[in-house]
Amino acid sequence: MQECGLCNGWAESERHCPRCNGTMMDQGRVTDFLDDYSPYLDQKYTDLVDGESYSSVAEQCVHLFVCEDCGLNDIQT
Ligand SMILES: [Zn+2]
Ligand SMILES: [Zn+2]
Repeated sequence: MQECGLCNGWAESERHCPRCNGTMMDQGRVTDFLDDYSPYLDQKYTDLVDGESYSSVAEQCVHLFVCEDCGLNDIQT
């Protein structure tokens, strides 16, 4: 796996929420959440795991971001 700035602490761990312009915080690697958290995730993320597309993103470290203000969740590489 390539070096991940979020895991290593040199990448910005806050993102602007596209819906409410609030602050989205890095919750950690998506792969760490999939077992416990997948019921709460949008269908498109679980599709990533089931489908062929996961093999491409699996090469990267994918992080889950959740908006503190509106609860929107999104994944970022
Ligand atoms: Zn990472
Ligand atoms: Zn928001």
